[in-house]
Amino acid sequence: AGSAAVLLETRDLTKEFRGFRAVSDVSLRVVEGTIHALVGPNGAGKTTLFNLLTGFLTPTSGQVLLGDRDVTGMQPEQIAHLGIARSFQITSLFDQMSVVDHVELALASPTGLGYRFWRSDSTMKQFRPRAMELLEQVGLTDRSGAAAGSLAYGQKRALELALALALDPKLLLLDEPTAGMGLEDVDRTIALVKKVSAGRTVVFVDHNMHVVGSLADTVTVLQSGQVLAEGTYEQVRNDQKVITAYLGQ
Ligand code: ADP
Repeated sequence: AGSAAVLLETRDLTKEFRGFRAVSDVSLRVVEGTIHALVGPNGAGKTTLFNLLTGFLTPTSGQVLLGDRDVTGMQPEQIAHLGIARSFQITSLFDQMSVVDHVELALASPTGLGYRFWRSDSTMKQFRPRAMELLEQVGLTDRSGAAAGSLAYGQKRALELALALALDPKLLLLDEPTAGMGLEDVDRTIALVKKVSAGRTVVFVDHNMHVVGSLADTVTVLQSGQVLAEGTYEQVRNDQKVITAYLGQ
């Protein structure tokens, strides 16, 4: 308790698209070592905010700070290098390439963002033990030699998570980690995120309130680009403004 360190902070962060404020004066503080959820109805600005945090979009105004460092306007590669990793999208997987080769490439790429650098087999081999460790963490040991295209949906999401973990990030951003999953995969993912969040800070977006309630230490509710409410899951779900926003009244 007491002086909890803030790992990620935004100050009056704003993103306009042709005058439309998708993210509007958002000031957020993510405490080191916590799991922080971003929720809100469709169009609330969650994806835009994630893109601002990772450098995929440049803010119209405001700041993003990682620890003491102002990372506003930095390129995605630089931000990744400073320790923010985002779970990869399934679309970035190569169907024909093996699961373990994906992880080795992520380990070989300093930012983890690209498969742009071709490495020799002998260079790649040095990454094998760490790659297998990461696959063990996400429960994919027995699929390590399989082609990524042959994985079940939940396994592809687990592989994405391993690729993000390959960066050993201080801050892990998870974009709808349970989207499209059945109950069993949802519960497996909750357990997995809990496990890999040890010693890290996690920010995630998810629509499933069971997931949010199970994982989040702090929940920020966005609506129309602005922070509507913030607190524990219990606090925000009993907040009249939040109830009204979700019921659309
Ligand atoms: P969420 O992820 O919470 O559903 P988004 O961040 O995707 O919300 O979108 C927030 C708002 O910004 C929406 O109204 C959306 O239409 C708009 N928006 C998002 N990206 C763009 C863009 N590139 N150009 C114009 N409008 C956009």
